[in-house]
Amino acid sequence: MHTPSLFPRLQKILLLWFDAHKRPLPWRSTYEPYATWIAEIMLQQTQMERGVAYFERWMHRFPDVRSVALADENALLTAWEGLGYYRRARNIQAAAQVIMAQHGGMFPSQFSDILDLPGVGPYTAGAIASTAFNLPVPCVDGNVERVLARLFDIDSPVKAQPAKGRIHELASALIPQGQARAFNQALMEFGALVCRKKPLCAACPLTTLCESYRLGIANERPVAGKRATIKLIDVATGVLESEGRVFIQRRKDKDVWAGLWEFPGGCVEAGETPEQAMVREWQEEVEFPVTVVAPLTRIKHSYTTYRITLHCFRLAFANLPASLSGNSAACSLAACPAPKALHEATDFRWLFPEELGTFPMPAPHRKLADLLSTLHLK
Ligand code: SF4
Repeated sequence: MHTPSLFPRLQKILLLWFDAHKRPLPWRSTYEPYATWIAEIMLQQTQMERGVAYFERWMHRFPDVRSVALADENALLTAWEGLGYYRRARNIQAAAQVIMAQHGGMFPSQFSDILDLPGVGPYTAGAIASTAFNLPVPCVDGNVERVLARLFDIDSPVKAQPAKGRIHELASALIPQGQARAFNQALMEFGALVCRKKPLCAACPLTTLCESYRLGIANERPVAGKRATIKLIDVATGVLESEGRVFIQRRKDKDVWAGLWEFPGGCVEAGETPEQAMVREWQEEVEFPVTVVAPLTRIKHSYTTYRITLHCFRLAFANLPASLSGNSAACSLAACPAPKALHEATDFRWLFPEELGTFPMPAPHRKLADLLSTLHLK
């Protein structure tokens, strides 16, 4: 069991290691608060290499708080497209508007003010406060949980009490005076590069201080909690074509893909085939009578604990009721009518496939849109 008297040695070794091995990430060049914040939000559930590319594009497009606060939502979601968890992008804009309204456009430097921003939880607030402002607050992510659980041999599930509280205490107590920025990052970076899921103990400078290494049980730490049940879901979606154009709709502001554009569709219900679900969903969502022309493809997509199979079809109008035959605002062709109602959406378009690129879409719908641009629709 470690005693606090060993903390200075642990701190010193980790800080020296970080100094020698830290990756040259773009937001580490200045530790500017806005850049730190964007990087922290972007890197949640995103691999580092992908995150860096997105970060650089984002900073080019939205270089400061003001540009995000004033951005068009479509442009914001397009810049985020592919990262998933779109609520993060919307929260960034909501937080930027709070910073403009309540902090005169200056990123707040107090931990409590940072924590009050939309989309910022204790981990993110700790990361921003310590990295951008060098405040002595902990930030405990999965890497930190793993490193501390191994170093201190914490033998209960790390996401639950009492381990959670113990890890938080340790992460606070370990911060060396005046060095929160470097130390918190060192701990996270060490977890990402050395004390990884499969720990590289042979290359580790902390073996003499690591309790689980001493006991030969590093691979048994951290203790995992109960595994979430994986849910398999079949979803049908269809591309309704008319004179070379396809129909898309913008989802209502009520779910994880709110504000994004998609091809209508929905879950295949018990006893239905995907084709039957397709016809039913188009009737329920836009009141268009459609018929399945042919299967297009199947797309697999994972989201948290869901494993989704998207069954994609080419569709045509089953018949075009007189009530639908008037021209729509989006398309001057009578063959591209406006729906009588949009039950799951706030807007719609009839577009040529090559126009779909400027409309932000969830990843599986983007794959479908990309496929369409390789086909020759009539
Ligand atoms: Fe992690 Fe192994 Fe180093 Fe312990 S000795 S901190 S388990 S890498």
